[in-house]
Amino acid sequence: MQSKNKRPPTVAERRHIEAVKALPCSVCDANGPCDAHEIKQGQWFSAVALCKECHQGPLMGWHGQKRAWAIRKMDELDALAVTVRRLFESKR
Ligand SMILES: [Zn+2]
Ligand SMILES: [Zn+2]
Repeated sequence: MQSKNKRPPTVAERRHIEAVKALPCSVCDANGPCDAHEIKQGQWFSAVALCKECHQGPLMGWHGQKRAWAIRKMDELDALAVTVRRLFESKR
């Protein structure tokens, strides 16, 4: 899903994306590897670790009916907070 004027990620962004993808899903805790969902296109440092289902599942996913999110009363910022917390926890 590359948009037209998207610049390629920098080295630091690529490293961050890889770390995010290695995390469990920020919504349902399914084991990684996950997708890195961009809350805002091209803003990789606010990417969220999501499993395929919570990301693009037509029923459960953010890009679908968001049921997995609704059940847990989560939005993108809640999920981002989980992703960031886990990144720092994994660095200990
Ligand atoms: Zn999930
Ligand atoms: Zn996405």
